[in-house]
Amino acid sequence: MPKYVYDFTEGNKDLKDLLGGKGANLAEMTNLGLPVPPGFTITTEACRHYLEHGGVPDGLDTEIADQLARLEERMGKRLGQADDPLLVSVRSGAKFSMPGMMETVLNIGLNDESVQGLARQSGNERFAWDSYRRLIQMFGKTVLGIEGDLFEDALEAVKAAKGTEDDLDLDAGDLQKLVGTYKEIVRAHAGREFPGDPREQMDLAVKAVFDSWNAPRAVLYRRQERIPVDLGTAVNVCAMVFGNLGMDSGTGVAFTRDPGSGQQGVYGDYLSNAQGEDVVAGIRNTMPLQELESIDAPSYARLMEIMEILENHYRDLCDIEFTIERGKLWMLQTRVGKRTAGAAFRIAMQLADQGLIDLDEAVMRVTGGQLAQLMFPRFDDSAATRQIAKGMNASPGAAVGKVVFSSARAKELADRGEDVILVRRETNPDDLVGMIAAQGILTSRGGKTSHAAVVARGMGKTCVCGAEDLDVDVEAGRFTTHEGLVVAEGEVVSIDGSTGAVYLGEVPVVPSAVVEYFEGSGDLSDDLVQAVHRIMERADSVRRLGVRANADNAEDAARARRFGGQGIGLCRTEHMFLGDRRQLVEDLILAESAGERQAALDALEPLQRSDFIEIFTAMDGLPVTIRLIDPPLHEFLPNLTELSVKVALAGDDADPKDLRLLAAVKRLHEQNPMLGLRGVRLGLVIPGLFAMQVRAIAEAVVARRAAGGDPRAEIMIPLVGAVQELEAVRDEAVAILRANGIGPDGESPVLIGTMIEVPRAALTAGQIAEAAEFFSFGTNDLTQMTWGFSRDDVEASFFSRYLELGVFGVSPFESLDRDGVGRLVRIAAEEGRKTRPDLKLGICGEHGGDPDSVHFCHETGLDYVSCSPFRIPVARLEAGRAALTCGDSDTR
Ligand code: ADP
Ligand code: MG
Ligand code: MG
Repeated sequence: MPKYVYDFTEGNKDLKDLLGGKGANLAEMTNLGLPVPPGFTITTEACRHYLEHGGVPDGLDTEIADQLARLEERMGKRLGQADDPLLVSVRSGAKFSMPGMMETVLNIGLNDESVQGLARQSGNERFAWDSYRRLIQMFGKTVLGIEGDLFEDALEAVKAAKGTEDDLDLDAGDLQKLVGTYKEIVRAHAGREFPGDPREQMDLAVKAVFDSWNAPRAVLYRRQERIPVDLGTAVNVCAMVFGNLGMDSGTGVAFTRDPGSGQQGVYGDYLSNAQGEDVVAGIRNTMPLQELESIDAPSYARLMEIMEILENHYRDLCDIEFTIERGKLWMLQTRVGKRTAGAAFRIAMQLADQGLIDLDEAVMRVTGGQLAQLMFPRFDDSAATRQIAKGMNASPGAAVGKVVFSSARAKELADRGEDVILVRRETNPDDLVGMIAAQGILTSRGGKTSHAAVVARGMGKTCVCGAEDLDVDVEAGRFTTHEGLVVAEGEVVSIDGSTGAVYLGEVPVVPSAVVEYFEGSGDLSDDLVQAVHRIMERADSVRRLGVRANADNAEDAARARRFGGQGIGLCRTEHMFLGDRRQLVEDLILAESAGERQAALDALEPLQRSDFIEIFTAMDGLPVTIRLIDPPLHEFLPNLTELSVKVALAGDDADPKDLRLLAAVKRLHEQNPMLGLRGVRLGLVIPGLFAMQVRAIAEAVVARRAAGGDPRAEIMIPLVGAVQELEAVRDEAVAILRANGIGPDGESPVLIGTMIEVPRAALTAGQIAEAAEFFSFGTNDLTQMTWGFSRDDVEASFFSRYLELGVFGVSPFESLDRDGVGRLVRIAAEEGRKTRPDLKLGICGEHGGDPDSVHFCHETGLDYVSCSPFRIPVARLEAGRAALTCGDSDTR
């Protein structure tokens, strides 16, 4: 039979799975010889049993009884003993800290008799009744499920009757009366008496803590924080120490460093004559921890000493709960403390400089997510603000601008140099122009994986989505808030993509020093920039994965380079067909003869060539993977409905060009374009299209070489599912390259490879590698096709339900699905390399900048990840962390 109860002396900090974080660290402190009140921990395993079977496991009751007996022996008094009661707290504590989410009951063991004993023993009647009323209050709320306000209101009423707002003005008599009132509240609302039997109190409290694991707010918190649902919580039973024994007692919280900035110093709050949560509950004004020194210098000195011991022991920032009972300091909790992103970087470097950790560990102490947070501009915290709505923090950053409700209007105002916020119910691919033009995007619908959110993150643009309180009226050009405030086009709002807050008016913004650093103009005397710099240098030196950029133009390419990109992993060519050039694509589609088609292609080619020349120039000496045109052609044509309406309205006067266009739109219309005529399929059925692109690439390479440059082109064929498709395109492409003297047989040839984004390609990778010099995993499509759902369709309709049900813990479009999609990637990598050992492997989906996916790519042995320029630093850092995690970093 498993052991379900551990004395604090039996555990240690590494047993968090079993003892929860609080229990494991209480044990650790106990074993360090720190003053922790004795107690024991009931394991998470017991909790899981309880939750699963609706009852405690066999043997638990006896184990608890045994441990309690030992505790009583050590303390020299029994739980609730009438003349001198042992009191305990029953405290929740799961593996991951869930602040305020779960329950704790203090002062267990008090009843009508033992309260008298406590009063006599302590010589403090007020204290005894204060403790008793606290027990009934916490027990009533937590264990009996009574509305907490009922107790709060009764307390307020007693204070009001006394004409005070300070609980310290209540005397023993007041508190004794309050106990009576509380008992009545229990009777009226729980349909039972407050239980006087100490052991019953304890058992009920233990079960209530177990049950609190499934309280709605705990469930919600876990979902948000991605904490697994089935861990359960441990329960700690801990002898009480009392901060409410008088002014020589008190309770406090402290950090060993500032969790906001990372600076060393004394950070914390203290409250005299108080218990438990008083210090954070705001019932009285707390004093800064430093002031404790003047009240109780010995305790203060001891606390400082213990904080140093803890920091040196955990080698990290710790947070602490302590209580002083009549001049004696007790430690009630510690853990490695949460911190802001900036503090994480600063603290990691400080600890490395102090010699507590080495540089590799400093790299491990920070995350790509934290780095990403440091890269967005922020609102000035000190500014006055008026919040008008709250949505989801979809893409961090701080954006200010005039609201506009259409993509066209966004572009128009932005072209005039105005800052705009694009407000939509939700966005779709047509809004791209507006999203690019806008400073930020605000939507009233859709979650963190909605189109707006995904695209905004990709662009590094601020986005608040799913602000459901907003009623967006696009036609009228205004939105209305929950409170009825109407905000019309042209009015200024500020949106905070890190918190989801929406403010009326302009909130001042401060730029990110970290981005300035990556841009090359950073201030290395700033300690945050310095920390980022040193950690990035180390990550770069240990990582094995290359990091490239997804970039379609020279500007992005140049930024990618500044940010440390080692080439372009995905240059999409379809953007090169938009804008003024759309006309030429229309001509291509409407061409009725080979001559007309060729004329259209000939007009496009020089434009493409000059695009490529610019990109090769920006990426000189580094590889540039160019994907030939991928989307279905109708994306370049007018909308079917709009065009039909236009033609219908014009009747007999319809423009003949419109009629031809309409016919083409209808001809190309597909039920399911994602699975239709696109990618390599398009290249094989529209003669000359791919050839034109390959020629433009070849000529750009030749031109750059002639100019003394070092272009490194790689041609990537999209959507291949069978090696035959690739061979057909490859033969034509090779001929064109050869004609330009850069074929595979020549010196420094242009490579030809394919995207692996159709499951069949992954499954036949051994064959496909015969015709491909590289693979790049297009994990957006690969995810869609593996799961059989399209991102744009499912994110709004059922993703939130799926996340709720735990079908996946995180959207497979955000983080690569290791089991399914990942398996295909592994198969393709292995079989591809069996055919061609020097096959280059990369990934170019959105996942290339996602920390967990970067780790997957490292583990799978890919050569590089490719992501949007703004994500490059994140990918570099995570690639370093992945190498350190796997123990196969480059320097070891
Ligand atoms: P949380 O996880 O919400 O911090 P805790 O279990 O730490 O909950 O307890 C709530 C409060 O009660 C904390 O302020 C804690 O320090 C205090 N507390 C818990 N156990 C004891 C005890 N045995 N003696 C005195 N105070 C305690
Ligand atoms: Mg606590
Ligand atoms: Mg694709």
